[in-house]
Amino acid sequence: METCEEVVDFGESGPVRCSRCKGYINPFMKFIDQERKFICNLCGDREDLVDSRAVGVDGGMKSGGEDS
Ligand SMILES: [Zn+2]
Repeated sequence: METCEEVVDFGESGPVRCSRCKGYINPFMKFIDQERKFICNLCGDREDLVDSRAVGVDGGMKSGGEDS
């Protein structure tokens, strides 16, 4: 039996959090650079919003999007 520590599995990506102050992303944070980055409203740090999975989507897409 573990303690009552909450373990929430958000999968690989998980909720976006500020790596500096560990604050969760919220509407008060300011998104910059085409929403690929955000400025934490809690500590003012600039964080990358893109994760590893989001990189290279264009190159990895196969053709055949049209289903005719
Ligand atoms: Zn922060």
